[in-house]
Amino acid sequence: MNKKKVTIIGAGIVGASAAYVLSKESDIELTIYDEGTGQGTAAAAGIISPWLSKRRNKKWYTMVKEGAAFYPNFLNDVMAGAPTPSSVYKRVGTLLFKKNYKQLEELLAIGLKRRENAPEIGDLAILSPQEIKELVPIYTQNKSALYASGGARVDGKKLVNLLLDKAVNNGATLKHEHVTLGRLDQTYSINYGHQTDPADAVILSASAWLPELLEPLGYNVDIHPQKGQLVEVTFDGYKTENWPVIMPEGEKDITPFENGTVVIGATHENEKGFDLEIEKSALTSMIKEASHTFSHYFSTSSIASFRSGTRAYTSDFSPFFGEIPGLENVYAASGLGATGLTAGPLVGQSLASLLLDENVRLSPEDYPIDKYVKKNQLN
Ligand SMILES: Cc1cc2nc3c(=O)[nH]c(=O)nc-3n(C[C@H](O)[C@H](O)[C@H](O)COP(=O)(O)OP(=O)(O)OC[C@H]3O[C@@H](n4cnc5c(N)ncnc54)[C@H](O)[C@@H]3O)c2cc1C
Repeated sequence: MNKKKVTIIGAGIVGASAAYVLSKESDIELTIYDEGTGQGTAAAAGIISPWLSKRRNKKWYTMVKEGAAFYPNFLNDVMAGAPTPSSVYKRVGTLLFKKNYKQLEELLAIGLKRRENAPEIGDLAILSPQEIKELVPIYTQNKSALYASGGARVDGKKLVNLLLDKAVNNGATLKHEHVTLGRLDQTYSINYGHQTDPADAVILSASAWLPELLEPLGYNVDIHPQKGQLVEVTFDGYKTENWPVIMPEGEKDITPFENGTVVIGATHENEKGFDLEIEKSALTSMIKEASHTFSHYFSTSSIASFRSGTRAYTSDFSPFFGEIPGLENVYAASGLGATGLTAGPLVGQSLASLLLDENVRLSPEDYPIDKYVKKNQLN
């Protein structure tokens, strides 16, 4: 039997999740291409805690809420019932700070309401400074915070590697190539160097680089790159693996991982686009901010590493996915912005379901691709 040749371009969290799902299909020959530069997933802070955001976009909220809820089951499937390594994903809870106690009480009320449809938020409680200190011994401020026990942290790079390893074990081929997409009669060509591979169906999980893939085929794509930088510091002698994710007021969150490692960030730099240069001044100001908002100990921590990556946004900040208008059997997702690691596995699985003509858990009509990917009038 001739297998259907399926291609995935872009192996961040979306493409790697789709790859894992499709690699289990015995009638598919799967090839994944990823070039890697600027990948949002590998740069991400790793926070999975979407429930108490101030954003009012209901469809976005549904996507990230469902995305967060999807993680444990998805990982259980990926791990075939074995425990997920805690270095990859762990539910550690989230601490959210507000300007004053009244705002915390308002947030608690919102959380309790939202929990009716999102039990995965877990326990909710306002913790005193002393109670926060018991969870995170380095805390030096005197403010209370809202604690949500369902918050999690994920190492995007490790998760992608895990998913790709499983896909390759299931028979998929992974190629580290920068490719272009071409159209043949009924099918497609994947082009790199002097080589061309044929494809019957294609998933474009290329995030901020989706315009680059589709513009040569005569499309306008409403996707814009945003630069994000973050810094990883270490606290010698501290056991950080169970510390909750910390979200002070503002955009610079604090995500503890294992072995004393804590990530601070990230920046949101629209005007910098695809630039990946690390700016020392941005890193020091993030450390200063963490020191000011959560713990003076940050000023004595040592910088372990820093990274930068590219997020993808649409003009109205809404994500989309679906079949590309006018390109049968070519599916794409993008515009996942600052919460793409949260939504990524579910969006990847949804793309795989569309391709397999199976029921899709997220309604594609709520995330219409034709609003953002349009055939150029001149073509
Ligand atoms: C600094 C930072 C912090 C973040 N923190 C969080 C967070 O805490 N929580 C959260 O939920 N989200 C977070 N995000 C957002 C999240 O990381 C992204 O939305 C998500 O990872 C996007 O996943 P993706 O698979 O769509 O794209 P990406 O991970 O960017 O992957 C796209 C891949 O496609 C490849 N590619 C593109 N074009 C081609 C081509 N022509 N040929 C071959 N390969 C190609 C790229 O090289 C890349 O590897 C953060 C993002 C950044 C930058």
